Amino acid sequence: MSLAINGGTPVRTKPFAQWPVFGELEQQTLLNVLNSGKWGGVGGTFNGEEPYIPRFEREFAKYQNANYGVSCVNGTVAITVALQAAGVKPGDEVIVPPYTFIATATAALAFGAIPVFADIEEDTLLIDPDKVEQAITPKTKAIIAVHVAGAPANMTRLLEIARKHNLALIEDAAQAVGAQWEGKGVGAIGDLGTFSFQSSKNLNAGEGGIVLMNEKSLWSAAWSICNVGRIPDGGWYQHEVLGQNYRITDIQAALLLAQMTRLEEQMQCREANVALLNRLLGEIEGISLLKQDPRITRHANHVYLFKLSSDFARKANKEEFIRKVNAEGIPVFYGYVPLNRTNAVLSATKDWLGEERVYDCPVCERLCASEALMLSQNVLLSEEQAMYDIAEALEKVIRSYDE
Ligand SMILES: *Cc1c(COP(=O)(O)O)cnc(C)c1O
Repeated sequence: MSLAINGGTPVRTKPFAQWPVFGELEQQTLLNVLNSGKWGGVGGTFNGEEPYIPRFEREFAKYQNANYGVSCVNGTVAITVALQAAGVKPGDEVIVPPYTFIATATAALAFGAIPVFADIEEDTLLIDPDKVEQAITPKTKAIIAVHVAGAPANMTRLLEIARKHNLALIEDAAQAVGAQWEGKGVGAIGDLGTFSFQSSKNLNAGEGGIVLMNEKSLWSAAWSICNVGRIPDGGWYQHEVLGQNYRITDIQAALLLAQMTRLEEQMQCREANVALLNRLLGEIEGISLLKQDPRITRHANHVYLFKLSSDFARKANKEEFIRKVNAEGIPVFYGYVPLNRTNAVLSATKDWLGEERVYDCPVCERLCASEALMLSQNVLLSEEQAMYDIAEALEKVIRSYDE
């Protein structure tokens, strides 16, 4: 069978699932906000009703089993707010994984805190708790666990480490709406957890974010940072700490409440497709599935990550492999690049410290260069046949290396 990249017939020409998904509910709630005349989000009521922002904060926090939530403009700012609310100051070190979206590291650099990289686990692509312990110095103030692709990191070990060394534990759960570790929603297993509602995330308002926490004092600190340094019961022009205007709009909160009603059905669709993909790809020699810790009682399945087997990766160039699979009509992506080698991170670190920092994360670097692959988030909302097409295309391309 000749490969599509060489002029053969592609395995799939049909598009994958449409994203975003919306209907009359979104239209109605958006109209409600429009007609209320209260588009911004500081207190007050409209038509005697509570605005959407506090309702959303309450419902989302409850959904993730957290006591409190403070919404904000996006998931990047949410991480900055969480770090600052936890007391992280310029010059302090924050331990982060190298395999994640860049915001995990730049949210610290935004105010002069220094990201320090702890390598990932080979079989999960998640931050390795042993490497976290090795990265702790007297300057370390916080650890950011990232639930990459919707798979919770090892929260049990990370919490032990954080408590033992008196560090704040923050969860970057931007990709993990709905995920659970040992039956508990991610986001407030650590001290604070952050989420993104940017348009590619599983819960989408175009842009948006939230910080979750269980402690009232952390809620109040995060609230102040997002509300120009006001305090919850203080005056309008009473500014007690340094904050910014990081507020979301009621337009976004309205969309999010409507989108939340679709979440369970979408999660079940993702789960069914992932179970099928795991079965199909698990049978293909040349592909290696990620391992899933049994304590992950719910995976958010934001994107699908998998690896080329080490044996196959030795004979295939990753970029060329991707081009061949893409030509078959399958949106496989390169995935993240190691943040410990990313210029934006290194140059900002040097600017703040006045000297270069070098981090080696050999596991992440090797997996990014030759093995780790990603399927985009809308793929997992597609029809069952799409999973068969993905498996068929991958197998077709892998086989072509034997010919
Ligand atoms: C998307 C994402 C962010 C940033 O969220 P934005 O809303 O785009 O600012 C942070 N961390 C991770 C892991 C993400 O996937």
